[in-house]
Amino acid sequence: MKEYDVVVIGGGPAGGQVARNLSKKGYKVALVDRNKTFFDNNFSSAGMTLAPLSEFNLPESIIGSYWKDITIQCTEKAYDWLGDGNKGVVLDFGKLREFLGEETLKNNGEVYLGHKYIKKEVTENGVFIDLLDSNTSKTKTLKTKLLVDATGPLRKVMYDSKEAQPKMDLGSGTEYLIEIDQETYDKFKEKLVFFLGHKWAIKGYSWIFPMENKILKVGAGKTHLKSNNQENTDKTTKKITEQIIEEYIQPKEYRLLDVHGGVVRYSVGLKDIFYKNKVFAVGDAVSAINPRGGEGIRYAMQSADLACKYINEYLVKGTTNFDDYRKKWRGRKLFKWKLSEISSRRMYSKYSDKQVENRVQFFHNNFSTDVLVDSLFNFKYNQMIYRIFQFLFLKIKFLFKKERF
Ligand SMILES: Cc1cc2nc3c(=O)[nH]c(=O)nc-3n(C[C@H](O)[C@H](O)[C@H](O)COP(=O)(O)OP(=O)(O)OC[C@H]3O[C@@H](n4cnc5c(N)ncnc54)[C@H](O)[C@@H]3O)c2cc1C
Repeated sequence: MKEYDVVVIGGGPAGGQVARNLSKKGYKVALVDRNKTFFDNNFSSAGMTLAPLSEFNLPESIIGSYWKDITIQCTEKAYDWLGDGNKGVVLDFGKLREFLGEETLKNNGEVYLGHKYIKKEVTENGVFIDLLDSNTSKTKTLKTKLLVDATGPLRKVMYDSKEAQPKMDLGSGTEYLIEIDQETYDKFKEKLVFFLGHKWAIKGYSWIFPMENKILKVGAGKTHLKSNNQENTDKTTKKITEQIIEEYIQPKEYRLLDVHGGVVRYSVGLKDIFYKNKVFAVGDAVSAINPRGGEGIRYAMQSADLACKYINEYLVKGTTNFDDYRKKWRGRKLFKWKLSEISSRRMYSKYSDKQVENRVQFFHNNFSTDVLVDSLFNFKYNQMIYRIFQFLFLKIKFLFKKERF
């Protein structure tokens, strides 16, 4: 039986980053994923700002394309924010996962693809893990000092199959990867298009991201929130995606390259278990994903970096303050994520179509591209809050004056 310092289950951005970091420190690490290649179920749209590239030292080779503009298309109108240079990237999600796996191998770690985690047994001496090898259909057992749950929304390792999990908000998304003609592609290159409102989205938002020349990612994500306005729709994320391709993009010709999708399970108030009995959880397994935009890669990798600090301490000293990992993460994100929860509930399930349009129009009239990007991706609301207060103050002043005359 092979023995490791750390076994990581899940080869997404969180698990890959844990394996990369710890193997670099010289620990004996195994990275395990049930997929046979890093390109199977290539579900993530992987749009982000430029910041994560330097934050995690990511190479140019995993970038699909750059974007500089944002369009928000509502039912009635489109609102454009033009950038004065590159504001972000769309990654090739498969290449990101492959890169993290290759880094692990380079640092003498091991990667088990096509291996499904089945169960664990935690003993005084370490953790024994059973994996099912999909090539041979045989079970393999590994032994490790610490086990990492990086299985994303499934949380397969932290919770045994019948164990209760905290209350979750659910979301799901479908994405088509399409190859289109050059002329049509040129209309969508270098920009992220988001769809809000009831015509092009359902209790969430839809999108068009440029992947690489002549290739677009087109998708729709739906929250499973109760809605005042949209209960009786027969739309699905698949139907909306097809509607966007046919009625909005209207390519002269297109070829479907891949259809993929995924789910989001987000614990309201970040109530997940972060550590228990020699098992750490990272990434979407601790709801690292931002609940408003479903942007999760950067935060999955940030939670991995934070967890590695405690894992390293445990491996060096034989002990660490495990609860500190949870406290630190909640300290960094809880307030921001609470604001995201509130704004996503309003936007996706409470507002009428007209209210959505009015909000976007207000943003468009008052906020620059940088302020929009800061609020959508970086949770910096200073300028926005200042502007809203200024707006309210002028309105009150106007009403007060009207009253006096
Ligand atoms: C449709 C969609 C679009 C998205 N678009 C964006 C975006 O544009 N930008 C952004 O930043 N984020 C986006 N996200 C979110 C982002 O992809 C996730 O937050 C991120 O991938 C989470 O990383 P993770 O490593 O925690 O989990 P995951 O990426 O989900 O990785 C979990 C891994 O665990 C493996 N696994 C599961 N069970 C087992 C098992 N039993 N045995 C072995 N392996 C197992 C899975 O195969 C998977 O590879 C999107 C999500 C969805 C669903």
